[in-house]
Amino acid sequence: MSSKDWIEKDFYSVLGVNKSASTDDIKKAYRKLARELHPDRNPGNRDAEERFKAVSEANDVLSDPRKRAEYDEMRQLFGSGAFRRSTRGAPTGGFDMSDLFGDGTATAGDRRFGGAGFSDLFGSIFSGGNRSSRRPGMTRGRDVEAEVTLDFGDAVRGVTMPITLRAPGVCDTCHGSGAKPGTSPRTCPVCHGSGLVTNNQGAFSLSEPCRNCQGVGTVVDQKCPECHGTGGVTKTRTMTIRIPAGVADGQRIRIAGRGEPGERGGPPGDLYVLIKVRDDALFGRYGDDLTLAVPITFAEAVTGVDLRVPTLDGSVTLRVPPGTPSGRTLRVRGKGIIRRDKTVGDLLVTVDVVVPKDLTPEARKALEEFAASSPPAPRQQLESRLNHV
Ligand SMILES: [Zn+2]
Ligand SMILES: [Zn+2]
Repeated sequence: MSSKDWIEKDFYSVLGVNKSASTDDIKKAYRKLARELHPDRNPGNRDAEERFKAVSEANDVLSDPRKRAEYDEMRQLFGSGAFRRSTRGAPTGGFDMSDLFGDGTATAGDRRFGGAGFSDLFGSIFSGGNRSSRRPGMTRGRDVEAEVTLDFGDAVRGVTMPITLRAPGVCDTCHGSGAKPGTSPRTCPVCHGSGLVTNNQGAFSLSEPCRNCQGVGTVVDQKCPECHGTGGVTKTRTMTIRIPAGVADGQRIRIAGRGEPGERGGPPGDLYVLIKVRDDALFGRYGDDLTLAVPITFAEAVTGVDLRVPTLDGSVTLRVPPGTPSGRTLRVRGKGIIRRDKTVGDLLVTVDVVVPKDLTPEARKALEEFAASSPPAPRQQLESRLNHV
């Protein structure tokens, strides 16, 4: 969801709660509406479907205290201000919030970085980039997302690994000004350096970022050859991270303090790592249990067998009792995945009776003798039915 969405949507009224509603009240309101509007109860009703989506979206933000605080703050800053009006049909065609925050409000030192992401928005606002609300305060660094692919065993046991992050940084050649070394940006002739232009439109006086300089207040005549005038370059940062034991494919883990550094002594952001796990040739995973399929012969299934099976650390011997049917799963305690609370899941061994396709003449003869001397398969029920047909 873009930051612009957040400004334009009133999640409180969508859920029918007031701004001071507790998290519990919000959850209750959401559950009630979600039940009423659920597509299963309103088949083919587009209006209900749209409202269902809107209610889910509102709940997603308001039920998360951190997102809710960000949302509230953003609504307070922009919700009813001139910015919002100007996005709705200003005579010059309005502007994109991403222009405003991604480019327009950044200082010369960090101008024109990033996209329209929410963290970008707040990074800009709270780093003091916004001219009209420049604050000297500390800034928390941005959160960073990364993805790693782990071998199965590493995911189970945990691993320490290097990770390389790419992030926007200030161009070293021009120190972020975007101007060719030896030249300087000059004051924008349109907005005279303010970064804003004012349109008088009837009773309203609307300010919007200057389109000549994208709200920066300066223009660059000779662009820096390194960054082509943007002032920014992509920088890589390598660090070592510790992936805890037992992570699963698709899990997202947070590593506190390993995001981008803060500014002016502010704390660093967090690193979020999306985990991908490669399949293992032998082992599978079921929750916190490891799974393993082991082929056995018919004779072993009948008479029982001691099986030596691999685990993730060493091997264990497992007793398959006489008369074990194919497909039975045997549990080896404590040889599975290490959980967060340090307890350990189990190893689930499923035996699979293999039926040979080719037999030696001796084996065939022995099998025929076996068949002749063993009771028939228990098909009495089927046969009694057949006799009545
Ligand atoms: Zn440069
Ligand atoms: Zn300008």
